[in-house]
Amino acid sequence: MSLPDEIRKRAEDLRAQLEHHNYLYYVLDQPEISDAEYDRLFNELKQLEEQYPQLRTADSPTQRVGAEPLDSFRQVKHPLPMYSLANARNKSELEDWHRRLCKLLEEAGIDPATAAYVTEPKIDGLAVSLVYEDGSLARGATRGNGEVGEDVTANLRTIGAIPLSLRLEPGEQAPPVVEVRGEVYLPLAAFERLNEERAAAGEPTFANPRNAAAGSIRQLDPRVAAQRPLSIWCYQVGYTEGLELDSHWSALQWLRRHGLRVNPMVKRYDSFAGVYEECRAWEERRAELDYDIDGAVVKVDSYRMQDVLGIAGRDPRWAVAYKFAPSTEITRLLEIEISVGRTGALNPIAIMEPVEVGGVTVSHATLHNEDDIHRKDIRVGDLVVVQRAGDVIPQIVGPVIQKRTGKEKVFHMPDICPSCGAATVRPEGEVVVRCPNKSCPAQIVESIKHFVSKDAMDIDGVGEKLVERLFELGLISNMADLYDLKRENLVGLELSSSVNERGKRVPHRLQEKSVDNMLSSLEESKRRPYHRVLFALGIRHVGSINAQLLASRFRDIDALAAASQEEVAEVEGIGPKIAESVREYFAEPHNRETVSRLRKAGLNLSVSEEEREAHRTLEGKRFVLTGALPTLSRSQARELIEAAGGKVSGSVGKSTDYVVLGENPGSKAEKARELGKTILSEKEFLELTEGD
Ligand code: NAD
Repeated sequence: MSLPDEIRKRAEDLRAQLEHHNYLYYVLDQPEISDAEYDRLFNELKQLEEQYPQLRTADSPTQRVGAEPLDSFRQVKHPLPMYSLANARNKSELEDWHRRLCKLLEEAGIDPATAAYVTEPKIDGLAVSLVYEDGSLARGATRGNGEVGEDVTANLRTIGAIPLSLRLEPGEQAPPVVEVRGEVYLPLAAFERLNEERAAAGEPTFANPRNAAAGSIRQLDPRVAAQRPLSIWCYQVGYTEGLELDSHWSALQWLRRHGLRVNPMVKRYDSFAGVYEECRAWEERRAELDYDIDGAVVKVDSYRMQDVLGIAGRDPRWAVAYKFAPSTEITRLLEIEISVGRTGALNPIAIMEPVEVGGVTVSHATLHNEDDIHRKDIRVGDLVVVQRAGDVIPQIVGPVIQKRTGKEKVFHMPDICPSCGAATVRPEGEVVVRCPNKSCPAQIVESIKHFVSKDAMDIDGVGEKLVERLFELGLISNMADLYDLKRENLVGLELSSSVNERGKRVPHRLQEKSVDNMLSSLEESKRRPYHRVLFALGIRHVGSINAQLLASRFRDIDALAAASQEEVAEVEGIGPKIAESVREYFAEPHNRETVSRLRKAGLNLSVSEEEREAHRTLEGKRFVLTGALPTLSRSQARELIEAAGGKVSGSVGKSTDYVVLGENPGSKAEKARELGKTILSEKEFLELTEGD
């Protein structure tokens, strides 16, 4: 077929765009467009090349994997190339893949009905190759361009989940060479925490967990990787010497037996029946996982069949990635609203044209701070890439610069607080702009909402809307005012109104029943333990865990109020920043006034005798901590155990009662399983120590 000029031009343009985005994604770990947008460009080029085969060149992005490795790392040639995966976006594309391979098997004289399949999650991380020589980790590399990768051994060695030597049975000899392939990833909770820390320190945030993992591994300084709780799922055996395996499933079992981390939910199917349903099941499971996946992978199990099927360009024919609905989309940024938090921070919120991302309609996203907005060059009116990774809060990856019209507006934080009009401040060295006015209405309303919230005083008869209304009407202007509310002032209070079909305004009033419910839940809240009250006060940086730590050391609020900053900072798990804000809180006369009014109202402001008893629920129990916990630091976990009368020891033994398991646990986890010890997740552990 002759090649029209505009088709040739379009193909050239697509190639240039894809090259550019490959560079941003694979080399800089900083994509500018969503994966879905990238895939659209990629598929368009692929289709053009199928229609006009003369367009297909060996260096086309459709024929190559990844990008050239960085010069700053030593380069390593992979013993076997590391390929990419062909995609199926829906059931019919998955069936097409299956039909094609059945045909090829048949042509080779193999009965396709004898083919078995393995389903696995498609982890959205960074592909690595780990070479074990005589059982020891000799080298680790990135995929690079598939043929040559970057030597990142030093960084991979810092990942606890990667064994430095294979686990061998007594008397077992390690094969001379085994190449293991897997995907390094950053758990979602760690990703969110890392981005928050980076935003607070004024550093660029990562677009998604994949880029954060890739950025951590492709660092010249291994100390950076060591600080990030990276993990790995191993999914393949590559090159081997002295090890004969005949199927993918047996390779996965081999990996697992030898101490490598294989996803526990991989499955084998004797036939293709059920494979599609399993891919869909992974899509459903996605939100519950603590790692990001962007699809499910289906592989033909038998190695003999894999050899027959072979490779097409950059993708093996024996495997396919069933890709989920994109977790990124493009939409328009309509405006940036400012919400004032309870500590006075002005938070920019993106208001977007509603768009469906990963099955959920998204119209709002957090924009950490002004610096981050400028660094990403996000302007009001831009088309932007929005992303939801797992159940992470939606965020804006960046603008689609090519689509700019010139009418977009650069955003500036307001000089005055949108709630009270006070001049805003940006303390030296901080990225957050604040309203310094302690009587700023937005801050007060937010702090009262926090006070009544579930994890704080849990006053379920008083919701957020009611707090706003009571504040508006002047019935409350402080959290302590809640306890002075009178039945007679509440019954019949107009909350909102609507217009009926005859055009008449109908007021909605607070009913007696709701008022009684409200008053009884306020009354009940007086029984909440001291540490909950401490958290409910809303002292900056004092979350529920820190409140427990403070309460276990300073047994009543007067002792805490009287303590010096140094004394507060001595509590294990409490840093100088928290100690400083505790001091600042109690230095404010109006805060002390609030505390004394709460005392008069009858709230618990010290650890009661029963609580002291009840709190020693872990008396004599022995704990072992292993792996990085999602939210608690080691010292915080230790303090909670000790405050409840328990003890922490370094190794699992007969006398151990509980093992608290985090990410990347070491051999202690296995020892605990062998000895049949109770294993707790962080969540279960917190439930155990909460004791109320
Ligand atoms: P891919 O991510 O679609 O699939 C191949 C990779 O999947 C393998 O290399 C491996 O790392 C990984 N994988 C995860 N779990 C696996 C498992 N269980 N078994 C086997 N492999 C598994 O392909 P790719 O070549 O790495 O990247 C292409 C994709 O990257 C594109 O589809 C696009 O979404 C994205 N991309 C985006 C941009 C951008 O600018 N946004 C640029 C380039 C690429």
